[in-house]
Amino acid sequence: MEYVMTRTTAEWQAADAAHFLHPFTDFQALAKKGSRIITSAENIYLRDSEGHRILDAMSGLWCVNVGYGRQELIDAATRQLRELPFYNSFFQTTTPPAVELAELLAEVMPPGFQHVFYAGSGSEGNDTVVRMVRRYWDLQGQPERQVIISRWNGYHGSTMAGASLGGMKYMHAQGGLPIPGITHIEQPYWWLHGRPAGLCRAEFGKVAAGWLEQKILEVGPEKVAAFIAEPIQGAGGVIVPPETYWPEIQRICDQYGVLLVSDEVICGFGRTGHWFGCQTVGSRPDLITFAKGVTSGYIPLGGVMVGERVAKVLIEQGGEFEHGYTYSGHPVACAVALANIRLIRELKLVEHVHDELGPYLAEQFAQLGEHPLVGEAQTCGAMGALLLVKDRASGEAFPGELEIGMLCRGHCFGNGLIMRAVGDRMIIAPPLVMTLAQVDEMVALIRRCLDLTLADVR
Ligand code: PLP
Repeated sequence: MEYVMTRTTAEWQAADAAHFLHPFTDFQALAKKGSRIITSAENIYLRDSEGHRILDAMSGLWCVNVGYGRQELIDAATRQLRELPFYNSFFQTTTPPAVELAELLAEVMPPGFQHVFYAGSGSEGNDTVVRMVRRYWDLQGQPERQVIISRWNGYHGSTMAGASLGGMKYMHAQGGLPIPGITHIEQPYWWLHGRPAGLCRAEFGKVAAGWLEQKILEVGPEKVAAFIAEPIQGAGGVIVPPETYWPEIQRICDQYGVLLVSDEVICGFGRTGHWFGCQTVGSRPDLITFAKGVTSGYIPLGGVMVGERVAKVLIEQGGEFEHGYTYSGHPVACAVALANIRLIRELKLVEHVHDELGPYLAEQFAQLGEHPLVGEAQTCGAMGALLLVKDRASGEAFPGELEIGMLCRGHCFGNGLIMRAVGDRMIIAPPLVMTLAQVDEMVALIRRCLDLTLADVR
């Protein structure tokens, strides 16, 4: 639907700067530059207040899996808003959409996941994980198992627990994080850790997984509750680990009885070419955090799928679990999620990513990998990254102060493309409905932006 401008761009920007503190933003710098005002969207394209059409290669914020403007989701929300806009799920109460969604989630999840705990976001889902794994070990008579291991440069949200689990040091620097009982290991980023050490990817995958074992032994296996990780790191820069990594991680978790938590907030609901990223990488998690793609971002919803190992103990021995959110099982969010998952099935989007979009994107990215500015091109399903380097042969990086990623991102914005820069990695995660012709359109735009960036630095 066409947006009718009720104010000019400058008026929106002035009001925005006067009152709206944006997430992860230098408030003063933004006020000087002015925000981009996104006014409407359809399929994979956004429209801004200046009338520009922009190809959204980031699905909003990794979430609009079914694309923008799907009537099925709009209808589900409006129907539910009319019928029952809100009721809680505390005090022995439930609502039909929350129950139906729990059933459907159990169907699409990997085998062994029959129970869901709802939250309002991915961060809240991960807060729930922390409470739940510690409760599990209490109930198992091992209350000293409190420590959760995660990875540097992983992202698990912005609440106190979410940011602590995450490995973003700049986040820890604000607010006295991490909270106690959370410790980190290095990420499986071959370019950063494996290549300089002269290891091939396969060798490096095992070395990187070994860091988990070392950490478990350092902390003491009897104190380690869980290991949490994204199957493919998203916000860290779409870092696809070597194939040897996850099988070894699984072996280590099994050996020490450590719970494995797969944070599928980005990887879930088809992004990697399977319903869940753990199926792509071949891990067998005990808990799965989800959000974003569960509603294609049309409305906030997150949660934790609880596998049988943990669910059985919580249900049979746990008594009251002293945790929950006002919006746990919000009926409108659940109704939208139901419509969204049904649509993913109907449109066969997981198959589309697995059989068509993913392989085609991989081919196209391999060609972009030949660009003089690109040191490494990686994809997994419908996500991808291009690492920008100064010298392809040696792998030498650009000087940090050049902010090569931001330079390239500027050209993307200027050319009608949303691509994100994470350090020197230019990343994409387009809507899963993207056609192969749209991949061509996106890749042509990326190539143009790489050329423009190259012209700036040569
Ligand atoms: N986990 C992962 C892997 C994420 O990528 C994110 C957000 O990007 C989160 C958790 C936090 O989700 P939210 O922003 O919905 O709290």
